[in-house]
Amino acid sequence: MPLRVLSVASELYPLIKTGGLADVAGALPLALRHEDMDVRTLIPGYPAVLHRLDDAQPVHSFDNLFGGQARLLAATAAMGLELLVLDAPHLFDRPGNPYRRESGGDWPDNPQRFAALSRVAADIGLGALPSFVPDILHAHDWQAGLAPAYLHYAGGPRPGTVMTVHNLAFQGGCPPSLLGELGLPPHAYAIDGVEYYGGIGFLKAGLWAADRITTVSPSYALEIQTDAGGMGLGGLLRTRAGVLSGIINGIDEDVWNPATDPHLAATYTPATCATTRAVNKVALQQRQGLEVDPRRMLFGVVSRLEWQKGLDLLLDRIPALLELRAQLVLLGAGDPGLQAGFLAAQQANPGRIGVTIGYDESLAHQIQAGSDALVVPSRFEPCGLTQLCALHYGAVPVVARAGGLADTVIDANEASLAAGVATGLQFQPDSGDQLAAALGRAAALWHDRPAWQRLQQNGMAAPVGWTGPARHYAALFRALAEERRG
Ligand code: ADP
Repeated sequence: MPLRVLSVASELYPLIKTGGLADVAGALPLALRHEDMDVRTLIPGYPAVLHRLDDAQPVHSFDNLFGGQARLLAATAAMGLELLVLDAPHLFDRPGNPYRRESGGDWPDNPQRFAALSRVAADIGLGALPSFVPDILHAHDWQAGLAPAYLHYAGGPRPGTVMTVHNLAFQGGCPPSLLGELGLPPHAYAIDGVEYYGGIGFLKAGLWAADRITTVSPSYALEIQTDAGGMGLGGLLRTRAGVLSGIINGIDEDVWNPATDPHLAATYTPATCATTRAVNKVALQQRQGLEVDPRRMLFGVVSRLEWQKGLDLLLDRIPALLELRAQLVLLGAGDPGLQAGFLAAQQANPGRIGVTIGYDESLAHQIQAGSDALVVPSRFEPCGLTQLCALHYGAVPVVARAGGLADTVIDANEASLAAGVATGLQFQPDSGDQLAAALGRAAALWHDRPAWQRLQQNGMAAPVGWTGPARHYAALFRALAEERRG
């Protein structure tokens, strides 16, 4: 019989997405099917979700879920993804982003909203749906963090629990006065419990209570056990090192496939990359108002413009990039200062720098297909998806040696070049000098055509899909289910 897994997430591609979490929550259950797993995903019934369901069937109801009536709907989304949707209008029937008001600022009742999601997940874990009693509850990020804690305090038989951290920077919390309202027992407010620096920590609760913890790369799994990378949770994570592991994310190879990508001027395969990719470079240079010149190396960036991503370092080093006679194309949105900085750089360097502020799926694909190298200078990076897309598209990644970037790019040093296995370039994070040096090394390699083509071919051959990661998750789920049965 397949193992039954309840995945709990606050967003899910393609229904609702603010970040990489949605991509993982949408792709992993599909990949797990090939591992003989029956996965249902519990998500909140935001308007964007409810409007896109057409076969929803009520399967459970709640008279009073954190102050209002609620229903659980079973539905099937794109690609046959099996959903359980928490239709609780008093909590989720709101415009805009899942977490924030349109006018800015978090919804003040986020603790209750996501405690409700976790409470319902725990109830399903305890048998609320006789037709689907999970063997494993897989909680994603702080929004699902209370689910393992509710199961812990329920006592008695329960599924195995796995807490996955997609980004430790988002932890979720509320004042201790809400303990009773959240349905947690008084003794839960303790260091060995949900207490976190004088409040209630949602992610902390999950990390403390879950049977297993995963995060999205092996290097990030180590970094978050340090005081610097642990963001307040390093001590707890060190005590849980024995059950903590890192599993790299994949990318959706149907969406990201240069051989079929409808966004590209010309599609290509590894065999045609050397010639056809140039067509995409010209199209990109034209679209971004850059000088159309094949002799100019083109660096690309597709990123949120936030401190984490280290793009302030790149902005500072634009003179060094220009000295290499290179061009830069950047797509991103976020910090107003960074947006203004890059726009000013574009204005000062017409034809050399092309900046687009905003979110543009199509341009993101065109940058991966048309730029020579993709720059990812993150200060920390749990996994990172853009460098995986870059590898797959033959845009050589130039990345900070952090988290998943360190794990997925093989630095072109003397040894790896001699062995013919390099896929990109790495540099020490949070250093403008090291970034500038890496851009220089990349430019030197780009002028050595055979060496560069080798990097591209190696990158395009690297496994970046979900098959490998799904196998790791499945092995972990099976071992845990076995342990709980035994
Ligand atoms: P994070 O989740 O921290 O933002 P990741 O690299 O894990 O970073 O995932 C980012 C995803 O969002 C990638 O698929 C990337 O292509 C996409 N993305 C980021 N910024 C933009 C943008 N401005 N326009 C289009 N896609 C973007």
